[in-house]
Amino acid sequence: MKCPNCKTVVPASAAYCPSCGNAMSRQDPGKTPGEVSPEWLAHLLCQDGYYDVEVTPDEEVVRGKHKTRPNIVLRIRRDLGCLTMLHWWSLKPSGIFGGGSVQTAVNKANNISWLNSFYLDKDGDLAVSSQIWLGRQVGSEDILTFLDRNAKDFMAAVAASGLQQHLK
Ligand SMILES: [Zn+2]
Repeated sequence: MKCPNCKTVVPASAAYCPSCGNAMSRQDPGKTPGEVSPEWLAHLLCQDGYYDVEVTPDEEVVRGKHKTRPNIVLRIRRDLGCLTMLHWWSLKPSGIFGGGSVQTAVNKANNISWLNSFYLDKDGDLAVSSQIWLGRQVGSEDILTFLDRNAKDFMAAVAASGLQQHLK
């Protein structure tokens, strides 16, 4: 979680911010895996700048769009004890790899990012998959930090791979 005073990222268990000494409140004790709901995730996405957020309750799926990040699909996988996050990018059809192959660029992206796995889906779009494990307690800051880090990691990996892409 973040210190509301100085914005330092602080362990969820910390009673005081190690940077500025602010007493950390326990207003967000976190959710158990059973309490994690699509509606809660939708609320967090809205807080994080996603728009057109849609919930499909039966499938426990939440979709959202963002101005500077890939659009995402979150799915609660209770059977696996995790959240899966998927996003897709369309690749420009030609001249994108400076002579390299699409697969080489995808492999390169996979080597750069440990957080995401990149693969080409059946339509030839670049699909990116990642998981957040639902431990005993998951706080809103855990999810928001993950989304932020995931987006940055993803952008860096794609940029370094030589891929050019646009939001799908
Ligand atoms: Zn602080």
